[in-house]
Amino acid sequence: MKAAVVTSDQKVEVRNKDIRSIRSGEALVDVEFCGVCHTDLHVKNADYGDKTGVTLGHEGIGIVKEVADDVSSLKVGDRVSIAWFFEGCGHCEYCVNGRETLCREVKNAGYTVDGAMAEQCIVTADYAVKVPEGLDPAAASSVTCAGVTTYKAIKEAKVKPGQWIAIYGLGGLGNLALQYAKNVFNAKVVAVDINDSQLELAKEMGADLVINPLNENAEEIMQDKVGGAHAAVVTAVAKSAFNSAIDCVRAGGVVVAVGLPPESMDLSIPRLVLNGIEVVGSLVGTREDLREAFEFAAEGLVVPKVEKRPIEDINDIFEEMQEGKFTGRMVLDMSL
Ligand SMILES: [Zn+2]
Ligand SMILES: [Zn+2]
Repeated sequence: MKAAVVTSDQKVEVRNKDIRSIRSGEALVDVEFCGVCHTDLHVKNADYGDKTGVTLGHEGIGIVKEVADDVSSLKVGDRVSIAWFFEGCGHCEYCVNGRETLCREVKNAGYTVDGAMAEQCIVTADYAVKVPEGLDPAAASSVTCAGVTTYKAIKEAKVKPGQWIAIYGLGGLGNLALQYAKNVFNAKVVAVDINDSQLELAKEMGADLVINPLNENAEEIMQDKVGGAHAAVVTAVAKSAFNSAIDCVRAGGVVVAVGLPPESMDLSIPRLVLNGIEVVGSLVGTREDLREAFEFAAEGLVVPKVEKRPIEDINDIFEEMQEGKFTGRMVLDMSL
């Protein structure tokens, strides 16, 4: 079968790869779609260690073709996801207390195990989340990573209906964060981005206030106009956005870190202590988070913007991604 495999010169080769037969607890999935994520770019570039030979892809959606005899959670014909959180150990403190993505023995699709940028993929059946009826599978692929990541981040922000949340970075992640914040959590949204066209789109999608920090002081505007945001979610990959988020929230505010710049942020200890600011890191989401994120998308409350491309385009897509050439999500369509 065809698969997008990382090569030793940090490219991706679409080639034929044999797939082994399934073992106890596993299912074989015919992949329909797989989104291309920034994380794939990092894996390919060996930013998290050399991954030569691995099949990329953790935004996969496909149809179950075969299940092992002992599998009861899935049946042939089910539509399922292949996510970054591919499998936890199932018995550590994190796995049993609802924080399974922090499992120290976690496996990640397209990183520790072969992922979904392929015609077929083997999944651990109990960890493959079912896609609800009525949700377009290409859109579902975006919810599998970008959607659940932002949905979870807003949950962590503990924002209540009518409260203000600042979203830093309105790209692929931030755009979905905006939709979940507005349409699911009924929050008021401040969109902060250095790109005016992203802010235009954010306005169209219902942002209550938009700020370009290249021309305006985001912290001052938020403190003056709304008394400080109740929470901030930072998807931007820039230290300055994290620093601004700390200063834009009101006392008791929560700052959720999602973007992953390889730097440290400045954090004033008096600001933290005297104003009771919380700073939280948030990584993808659990199976339950993904189930919820899928449901809201199936109800039409969140609509990912996707463009379908053939798997052979993968190296071009990575180049375009590096150059910041597209908005929304590129999705490999295995039928093309
Ligand atoms: Zn991803
Ligand atoms: Zn565990």
